[in-house]
Amino acid sequence: MDIKELKKNLFQQKKNAYQLMSDEDIAKCNQFCEGYKSFLNQAKTEREAVKFAIKTAEKFGYVPFVKGMSLKSGDKVYYNNRDKAIIFAVIGKEDISRGVKICASHIDSPRLDLKQNPLYEDNEIALFKTHYYGGIKKYQWTTIPLSLHGVIVKRDGSKVEVNIGEDESDPVFCVTDLLIHLATDQMQKNLSKAIEGEKLNILIGSQPLKSEEGSDLVKLNIMKLLNEKYGIVEDDFMSAEIEAVPAFKAKDIGFDRSMIGSYGHDDRVCAYPSMMACMDTNTPNKTSIVILTDKEETGSDGNTGLCSSYLKYFIYDLAGCFGVDGRTVLSNSECLSADVNAGFDPTYPDVADKKNFAFLNYGVVVTKFTGSRGKSGTSDASAEFVGKVHNLLRDNDVIFQTGELGKVDAGGGGTVAMYIANLDVDTIDVGVPVLCMHAPFEVVAKTDVYMAYKAFYVFMND
Ligand code: MN
Ligand code: MN
Repeated sequence: MDIKELKKNLFQQKKNAYQLMSDEDIAKCNQFCEGYKSFLNQAKTEREAVKFAIKTAEKFGYVPFVKGMSLKSGDKVYYNNRDKAIIFAVIGKEDISRGVKICASHIDSPRLDLKQNPLYEDNEIALFKTHYYGGIKKYQWTTIPLSLHGVIVKRDGSKVEVNIGEDESDPVFCVTDLLIHLATDQMQKNLSKAIEGEKLNILIGSQPLKSEEGSDLVKLNIMKLLNEKYGIVEDDFMSAEIEAVPAFKAKDIGFDRSMIGSYGHDDRVCAYPSMMACMDTNTPNKTSIVILTDKEETGSDGNTGLCSSYLKYFIYDLAGCFGVDGRTVLSNSECLSADVNAGFDPTYPDVADKKNFAFLNYGVVVTKFTGSRGKSGTSDASAEFVGKVHNLLRDNDVIFQTGELGKVDAGGGGTVAMYIANLDVDTIDVGVPVLCMHAPFEVVAKTDVYMAYKAFYVFMND
């Protein structure tokens, strides 16, 4: 008996993507990642991602969806949900009643949001109060350069956009931390207590207006500058959404440039590949739908998150254009919930069950279930659908692996998969492994990003 041959035939064979890809494919992968980095730098918030997506889609011939419009195969439409989430659809050749192919990713990322009354002065230093958004390790958000992005709705109803800290010539902002010399007490605290939410105040100024008397002259100077630039008064902050995000740009990591470090990989690293896969799809068999959603990081609630009915309404309205019942479409549909999973970090091996963890450069991760505490909070895809997706990837030379978010009792997390599965859609998580997820600077491997693009493309064009 040839033991070597038997092992090859019977055991699982895993290989690093760089051992499997041709030089030509690696070149294509690197080129794709240049586009991805540019997206990362231009779309740091959900609003900026939607804006980027619309601009891109219009170049590819997409037009706004209108309820009741007449549609035929090959037509491309998009639905903009309040400038914070977007859906694309390419009409397929098959009757829509046979179902659609959905890829759903999210474009919101953990960050610091300004409170509704953010501005104050303390000992002639001006600061903004914040309330963090999503799951963060608070200490990671101190002493890094931050930029401010968002919108302010003024008393007259007009809206101004804010984007400051991204241009090389712009000032940036930051959250301070206590100097080590005086941190004896702080250093005794555990990581979740060492920096508390109320201490995530952003430094924004220190120059008082010249005056013989009066208090709050630094704050007044800041308000004067903001009034000159944006025409706002302090009350206008109450109707603003301003997000503080890391001001640094996406960069290649490593001497070999094989990885990308950036803010917001979770989940732009699935949003960009799924959007580009949709852009590159022309007249698929089944109608393809790509969703870039908001509010995933806070539990998907709200009218721009996937717990709301906006996806269902869109599919009902799309089905209506063909005189088809919306629920028939949903029940026959399939979805890749395109979100990240944890990548194995050699510095922190203890949280991983290595047999069931995702590794960098081993391809896109297919995750049958997420959740925590005994598979709570997950849709858990059926073996039949898992097998179908695996075979589709195998048949099209898409490098993939399976992964589970850490050891059974180490923690856990969820995605939008269950909200779409709850609409009676076959759904599974497919995404990119990430190191230091939810940190201001997250890391992914380029080959995994490219395999995500290929996976979404073959799914939409199946
Ligand atoms: Mn995510
Ligand atoms: Mn996340």
